[in-house]
Amino acid sequence: MTATKLLAGVELGGTKCVCVLGTGPDDIRAHERLPTREPIHTLAEIETLLSRWADEFGLPAALGIASFGPLDLDRTSPTYGYITATTKPDWSGTRVAGRFADRFGIPIGLNTDVNGAALGEGRWGAARGLHDFAYVTVGTGVGVGLIVDGKPIFGCTHTEMGHIRITRYPGDAWAGACSFHSDCVEGLASGPAIQARVGAAAETLPDGHPVWDTVVHALGQLLHAMVVTTAPQRIVVGGGVVGSRTALFERIRAELAKSLNGYLRADELEKGLAAYVVPPALGAMSGSYGALVLAAEALPTENVIIGVTGESG
Ligand code: ZN
Repeated sequence: MTATKLLAGVELGGTKCVCVLGTGPDDIRAHERLPTREPIHTLAEIETLLSRWADEFGLPAALGIASFGPLDLDRTSPTYGYITATTKPDWSGTRVAGRFADRFGIPIGLNTDVNGAALGEGRWGAARGLHDFAYVTVGTGVGVGLIVDGKPIFGCTHTEMGHIRITRYPGDAWAGACSFHSDCVEGLASGPAIQARVGAAAETLPDGHPVWDTVVHALGQLLHAMVVTTAPQRIVVGGGVVGSRTALFERIRAELAKSLNGYLRADELEKGLAAYVVPPALGAMSGSYGALVLAAEALPTENVIIGVTGESG
């Protein structure tokens, strides 16, 4: 009983855009990467690509966009679907969702890149089958997609949990790199923060480099805050800085366990954290596949189930 509709997904990232066309990871008809430049060029290139795909494969039923932010996601706002005051040059005040709706006349689903990635991991990846979970990305920033009852948390705006303030690693007085909060989690643990602190790119540092002590400490506290706030059933940690460093995962789990200090009782937390704090199953595709979930959720009929192979739906 799998009804499949052709969907388009765009992960609009700070440095690159990943565009996909299909019904799910097992049925990707087309896939392309574009560099993120000024919006006037990048959005036009995405439109051209989607138009070409529409000619070749047919117009998709909906388009999902998982974008860097901050975004205006308030549907009653005159600037709904805009990128708001971002630190990324030229992109502040860029109209995104409406532009594609005008161009293609199809429903547009829009959310943050990290919420998109969380939804992708929830539908097809490491958080599959769960209703409360989180996706953390540690890369050019620190982002958290916090999913509660199947939906990303959304109040007066989307959340930005990567910017929580934490206690500092003992003896560490480095100022931090967040332009808004100095030593929030992003200001201590993002790739640019690590680079600013040690003068070398995070990916070039060995697992034994002392900077990881401070990164693990910061991330352990971020995860602690998530556990005591919404008690996710699982936390997926991805992004270029941490996602592929197996050695760091053990340390982050240990830091979380130490920080929680046995306070909360739940099977997920008590049987060891190896199955609780996990890398993404979709690798670098979490966000673009998540954009397909955003597309599916934008469809007017809610009973459309997008391609999950091997499941009865
Ligand atoms: Zn911050």
